[in-house]
Amino acid sequence: MDHQLREQRLQEEREYLQSMARQRALQEQGGEPESADGGASGGITDQADAEGGRRQSRAQPIVPEPLASEGALQVPHVPKSPRDCSLIAGAVERNDFLRRLGEGQTDAMVQSFSPAWHGPGHTVLAEGTDGDAMYIVAEGELSVTQRGCHLRTLLPGDVFGELAILYNCQRTATVTALTQVRLWAIDRQTYRTIITSQAKCRRAEILDSLREASWLQGLADAQLSKLLDSMEECTFAPDEVIVREGDEGKNFYIILTGEVQVSRSRGGQEELIRVLRAGQHFGELSLLRNICRTATCRAQGQVTCITVTKEDFQEISPFCPVLRQLSEPDVAAPEGTSLPEPGRGPCPTAAPAPLQLQDLAAVCYEDGQQRGLPVILGTGGFGRVELVRGREQLFALKRIRKAHVVRRGQQGHVHTEKRVLERSRCPFVVRLFGTFRDSRYVYMLLEFCEGGELWTKLREVRCFEEPVAVFCAACVVEALDYLHSNGIIYRDLKPENLMLDKQGYVKLVDFGFAKELARGEKTYSFCGTPEYLAPEILRHQGHDFAVDFWMMGVLVFEMLVGRPLFHSAEPQKIYSKILDGVFSFPAHLSEAACSLVSKLCRRRPGQRLGNTSSGIHGIRRHRWFGAVKWKQLALRRIQAPTLALMKQGLPYANFKRFSVDWTPAEEEFSGWDEDF
Ligand code: ATP
Ligand code: MG
Repeated sequence: MDHQLREQRLQEEREYLQSMARQRALQEQGGEPESADGGASGGITDQADAEGGRRQSRAQPIVPEPLASEGALQVPHVPKSPRDCSLIAGAVERNDFLRRLGEGQTDAMVQSFSPAWHGPGHTVLAEGTDGDAMYIVAEGELSVTQRGCHLRTLLPGDVFGELAILYNCQRTATVTALTQVRLWAIDRQTYRTIITSQAKCRRAEILDSLREASWLQGLADAQLSKLLDSMEECTFAPDEVIVREGDEGKNFYIILTGEVQVSRSRGGQEELIRVLRAGQHFGELSLLRNICRTATCRAQGQVTCITVTKEDFQEISPFCPVLRQLSEPDVAAPEGTSLPEPGRGPCPTAAPAPLQLQDLAAVCYEDGQQRGLPVILGTGGFGRVELVRGREQLFALKRIRKAHVVRRGQQGHVHTEKRVLERSRCPFVVRLFGTFRDSRYVYMLLEFCEGGELWTKLREVRCFEEPVAVFCAACVVEALDYLHSNGIIYRDLKPENLMLDKQGYVKLVDFGFAKELARGEKTYSFCGTPEYLAPEILRHQGHDFAVDFWMMGVLVFEMLVGRPLFHSAEPQKIYSKILDGVFSFPAHLSEAACSLVSKLCRRRPGQRLGNTSSGIHGIRRHRWFGAVKWKQLALRRIQAPTLALMKQGLPYANFKRFSVDWTPAEEEFSGWDEDF
C-alpha cells in the first residue's frame, strides 16, 4: 500500500476516534437521547447526526416520503439566462456532494431551479425547522448563524441547505439575507420527481434499444434489466477513438445510439472493416482471449454506449447467459451443493392459539430503579416495544402510535410490515403472532428475541471475532434468501435491526421499510439509514433487491471493524464516499473478508455478489463463508458462537433500560388500521 493511502487511512481513523470521543463527552453531559423523530442529516444548515459517531448511538432511519405522482406535480420550467445556467451548474459542480449526486443529471437539475427574492433582514431558513429545499445564491449576501453566533457569509455561487433535497432534515443554522438577495431554489419533491422520471425514461429507452439487438433476442426483460444494472453509460464525441488497435483491452461495449467504425491497419493505412450500429457490441475479443485490441473502433458522430470493465466482464460473464455465449464455456458450472429451501428449518416457537390484547400482561422489572415498571425492550420511530406474557409465554409487543403514523403518511409501510411478517415463516425472520388496534395504537405481537440487539452486543465488544461475524452474516443470508425468493426487499439491514433469539440465532426485525417487488422492476422511494444507503438509492435512479446485498457488505464490515464502512461527521461526506464507492480496510481484516465486502459493495448493482446470475448462492460459496455448514444452519443444528455474548438470568438481561414517556398517544379515528 502506498504511503499516501496509508496516511489517508490513518487520518480517517483519527477523525473517527475523535468524533467518538466527542460523542462520548456529549453523552456524559446529557445522556443518550432515547429516540428522536426525523432522520440524521448534516451540512452547514442541516442537522448532523451527533458528531458522526453514530455507532455510539442508535442510527436514525430516514422515513420514506411518498413521491408526488408525476402528473400531480407541476415541475417548474423556468427560463434562465446562460449566465444563471452556468452559475447553477458551476455551484453544483463545485459542491462535492451535489456533483456526485447529480452525475450526468446536472442539466436536469439546472432546469428545475426556481427563483426566490428576499429583502435585507429576511430569514430564508431557520434553525430547528424542517428543511424541504436547497438554495444557490445568485445575487447578494447572506449570513449563516447558529444559536446567535455568526458562522459565515454566503456569496453568489454558494450553496446552502443541500441535504434537504435528499430527505426531510432539521436545519441546524439560520440563514438571513444581509442585502437584497436573489436565490435559485429547488424543493425536494420537485427534485425527486424530475430525477426519478428522467431515470425511468432513460432506463426504458435503453431497454428498448437492447430489445432491438439481435444477439440479445430471447432474453426476458428481467434479464436485460440485470445486464443493464451491471453496465455503465458512456458517451463519445465524433471521431473519438473508443478502442485502439494494439492497446490492452479494458472494456466491453454495447452501442445504444450512433455508429462506430471498425478499422484495421494494413501497410500503414487504416482499412475500414465495417460499421457497427445501435444494439451491436464490440471489445469482447481482447478481454476474452487476453490479447491486445485487434482493431480500432472510432465514433462516427456522437455515440452512446453502455460499458463494463474487463475485470467486471470476467466476473459477470460466467453468470450472464448472453455474455457467457460470447466467452467460451471455460468456466465450469460452480459446484452445487443442494441447499435447503429457505424457511424449512423448524421455528423455535410454536404458534399459540390466537391471543387477544386483553390476554396479555406487562412483564415488570424485578430489580433496579425501574422495579415494578413494565419492561421496555426498545423504542423506535413510531413507538415502543414491550415485554408481555400471554398464556405462560413471553412475547414482544410492538406498540405503534397511530396519529404519528398518519402524520408521517406511513400507513402503507405499517401495512407492509404487517403483511410481510404475517406471510413469513422463516427461522431467520421474527414471527408475528397477531395484530391488534385501539383508538391510539396498533400493536404487533412478536416472537420475543431474548438475546437482545446485535447492535448492543457489538457495542459491548467493539467488534466481533470473525467466526461470530460469519455466523451472524450467514443467518442474514438465509433471511435474505427467504425474503427475496418471496419477492420482498428488506432495505434496512443494520445491527440495530438484527436480534438474537434464545439460541443465539440472528433474526431480522423491523420490516417498516420492506417492499414487495416483482423481478425486473425498480422502486424509487428514498429510505434506509444514512451509512447503509446504497448509491442507487441516493441517486433516485430506482433500486431493487440488490440494495440488500450492498447493505450486507456494510454490515459485515461494521461487525468486523466496529464502525461503518462509510463514515464521517457530516452526512454529505458519507454520501460522497458512498457515491464514489471507494473504501479501505484496516490491516487486521482477513483477505477473505475484504474480498467479500468489496464484492458486495459494488457501485453497479448488477455486479454485486448475490445479484449476478448465480444469485445468493454466489454469496454462500464465497470463501469467507467456507466454514459454514449451510444445511445445518438452516436446520438450526449449529451451536451459535453468539451465545458467548449473551447474558443469562432475567429474561430482559440482554436489554438496556429505557426511560419512557408514558403519556398516552393521541387518538386517531381515520380507519386506516381496520385490518389490524
Ligand atoms: P425504527 O425507529 O428502527 O423504525 P421501529 O419503531 O420500527 O423502529 P423496531 O425496530 O421494530 O421499531 O423495534 C425497536 C426496538 O425494539 C428494536 O431495535 C429492539 O431493540 C426491540 N425489539 C423489536 N422487536 C423485538 C423482539 N421481537 N424481541 C425483542 N426486542 C425487540
Ligand atoms: Mg428498528
